[in-house]
Amino acid sequence: MACGQQKIQSQQKNAKKQAGQKKKQRYDQKAAAKAALIYTCTVCRTQMPDPKTFKQHFESKHPRTPLPPELADVQV
Ligand SMILES: [Zn+2]
Repeated sequence: MACGQQKIQSQQKNAKKQAGQKKKQRYDQKAAAKAALIYTCTVCRTQMPDPKTFKQHFESKHPRTPLPPELADVQV
C-alpha cells in the first residue's frame, strides 16, 4: 500500500512540475514574440520581426510610398 501511495504522490508531483514548465514556456514565448516584433510599418503600423519582411511588406502594400531610409540597403 505504501508503495502505491508513493506512486500517486510522485505522479501528482510530476503533473505539478509539468504545469509549471508549461506556464513558463508560454510566458517566454510571449516575451520572445513581443521582443521579435521590432519593425513597425510607418504607413499601416503592422509589426514585423525582421527588416526583410518589413521591406517585402512595404514594397507589396505601399509601392507608392518611398522606402524608409533604414530599408534602403536591406537585401531581400
Ligand atoms: Zn504597411
